[in-house]
Amino acid sequence: MATESVTEFQARARAWLAAHAQQAPRDYGAICPPDLFDAGLAWQRTVHAAGFAGIHWPAEHGGQGLTVEHHAAWMLECALADVPPVLNMVGLVLTGGALLQYGTAEQKAQHLAATLRGDHVWCQLFSEPGAGSDLAGLSTRAELDGDCYIVNGQKVWTSGGRYSNWGILMARTRPEAPTHEGISFFLFPMHLPGVEVRPLKQMTGDAEFDEVFFTDVRLPADHLIGPLHGGWGVGMAVLTTERGHIGTAVVGLERRLESMARMADGRDHLDALQRQRLARLLATGGAFKAMAQRQGPHATTAASLMKLGLTEMSFDAAMLRGDLSGPDAMLAGSEAFGMLAAPGGRIAGGTSQVQRNIIGERLLGLPREPRSGGDRT
Ligand SMILES: Cc1cc2nc3c(=O)[nH]c(=O)nc-3n(C[C@H](O)[C@H](O)[C@H](O)COP(=O)(O)OP(=O)(O)OC[C@H]3O[C@@H](n4cnc5c(N)ncnc54)[C@H](O)[C@@H]3O)c2cc1C
Repeated sequence: MATESVTEFQARARAWLAAHAQQAPRDYGAICPPDLFDAGLAWQRTVHAAGFAGIHWPAEHGGQGLTVEHHAAWMLECALADVPPVLNMVGLVLTGGALLQYGTAEQKAQHLAATLRGDHVWCQLFSEPGAGSDLAGLSTRAELDGDCYIVNGQKVWTSGGRYSNWGILMARTRPEAPTHEGISFFLFPMHLPGVEVRPLKQMTGDAEFDEVFFTDVRLPADHLIGPLHGGWGVGMAVLTTERGHIGTAVVGLERRLESMARMADGRDHLDALQRQRLARLLATGGAFKAMAQRQGPHATTAASLMKLGLTEMSFDAAMLRGDLSGPDAMLAGSEAFGMLAAPGGRIAGGTSQVQRNIIGERLLGLPREPRSGGDRT
């Protein structure tokens, strides 16, 4: 059968979304917040039943067997329809990417189709209290004992941890090796005995993250994915996908620009400084839009430019919106929420400073900065 062209596919996706978008929760971005989980899961199942889940995944694993260009078209149409394209990107981007690249036949059969159906919902168990940007410094241990690894340690900032039934876990399997060489990557069932998930309250008042504690958890050894002690390579491949996902998900940028352009509506007076800040935001947004239009669907180092630029722009826009709204905006309401939520975007998926390091070293060819033990770049 001839493959449906991207244009034909896109028209079909657009028509389907026009008829079904009202069933979707609001577009929450990359990861479903806990209070929208039921609606997000129902939407994932609707999308799956209609044949729009796993667009570029192989058909034998429940995907549509199309190309990344078809996938990019779906992302674009979802952004235009203002709906989330997937339940959460940890399962449908990161875990799927890891499984397709490193999974055994059994692991692919167990997880890929189930993830597209929304039966397996995933969280990312990477960051720890002492290991974020410097991810290679992680200290959660997984020690082989017969046919199980015994896992002990703690993860933090686990988005959606409490509603996920699976996690992707990076843990230290060879403590005596240099940091990058002693880490392995696991598919981790969240309901094993010895796992405790505790919500973390953010300054917005919401609790979208969790801390996850592991106490003598017996993890079956066949849950290792990729080479033993070679989990750093798996993790980096996965995180490049994450960065690419964030960087290329700029299809909603135009909408953000429109909303920024309306920021001054209904206000009698903007002082010169406020006008200048607004004009700078719109100009910067326009420049990023032009750069986004030159990006392909694949993750590249230039994705760091997009990630940095867009999250900094969103942060500045939230601050300006607060300033324009006056002192009351500090107390409550959507402006206050926006200002409190905005810093998270500059941290998630690699901080702005870390993006600047990547840009300096890999795009501009500047000398590498001294490394302590290695970081997640
Ligand atoms: C919204 C959100 C969702 C998240 N979801 C998840 C999740 O699901 N799973 C998960 O595992 N983690 C998650 N995280 C955690 C995230 O990956 C880490 O917060 C991030 O990697 C930074 O690590 P850290 O918080 O330990 O800060 P640190 O690494 O301790 O950084 C502290 C400060 O030092 C700066 N810094 C650090 N190293 C350098 C350097 N080499 N050069 C210059 N400056 C540097 C940083 O930019 C930052 O300003 C999430 C975070 C956020 C905000």
